[in-house]
Amino acid sequence: LPPEQFQSTSAQVAIEGDDAHHLQRVMRAEIGDQVICSNGVDREALVRITGLDKGRVIAEVIEELPMNAETAVEVWVAQSLPKGDKMETVIQKGTEIGAARFLPFLSERTVVQYDAKKEAKRTERWQKIAKEAAEQAHRNRVPQVEAVLSWKQLLVQAKEVDAAWICYEKEDGQQLKPAIQEAVSSGKVDRGKRVLIAVGPEGGFTEQEIEQAEAAGFRSVSLGARILRTETAALVGLTCLFYETGE
Ligand code: SAM
Repeated sequence: LPPEQFQSTSAQVAIEGDDAHHLQRVMRAEIGDQVICSNGVDREALVRITGLDKGRVIAEVIEELPMNAETAVEVWVAQSLPKGDKMETVIQKGTEIGAARFLPFLSERTVVQYDAKKEAKRTERWQKIAKEAAEQAHRNRVPQVEAVLSWKQLLVQAKEVDAAWICYEKEDGQQLKPAIQEAVSSGKVDRGKRVLIAVGPEGGFTEQEIEQAEAAGFRSVSLGARILRTETAALVGLTCLFYETGE
């Protein structure tokens, strides 16, 4: 639940909006049913439904649940807009694995049509996918899905994090695994730190984009000798990172 829909005292919770609708119309919830509620920030509780009004479900808290499904390192996934519904795959699976924020962006070889008018609706749909994936994964937080960024807007994001990596299949120097290990041992990547992983579109990044990204503070890394699909690359990057950081 978004925080404004989780108006709780220590004893009672009011569920409103889409979640109240889902509980009443889809789940056919009844008084006495037990559900798990989260405010998507810092609180999760097992509750028992005590009242069903139009558009509002009232419940009493049975038990506060420990919040421990979040990763130690906050990872942002920047994904150049891919074709079809691949962005949905990245958001859904990336949320399950533990990403904290998604930054879709445009790069030179982005092939998908970008329509600013349809943008708000699409971001809303992606945010809903992140919410559903977070719920199914028992995440405490719903990752934020940002509106599509320009290439320049993406580059400045490197300054907002402790480490920024850009995945480049032609990189023959730096592999992601040693880059993570080095960042972990130098303390750059540790509990509470932020990391950004950027992935290119189907046609990849241009050499010039990699140069610009490195000048902006990104480090170009390889994910191995095999060329991964754009929707696979971020998921591999996330998995490697959490493997090395331990959670
Ligand atoms: N043509 C395929 C497709 O349609 O998805 C593969 C595209 S690959 C060029 C897309 C992006 O995935 C690249 O820009 C890069 O960010 C990332 N990527 C794929 N394989 C990689 C590798 N082995 N090392 C680093 N990055 C990789």
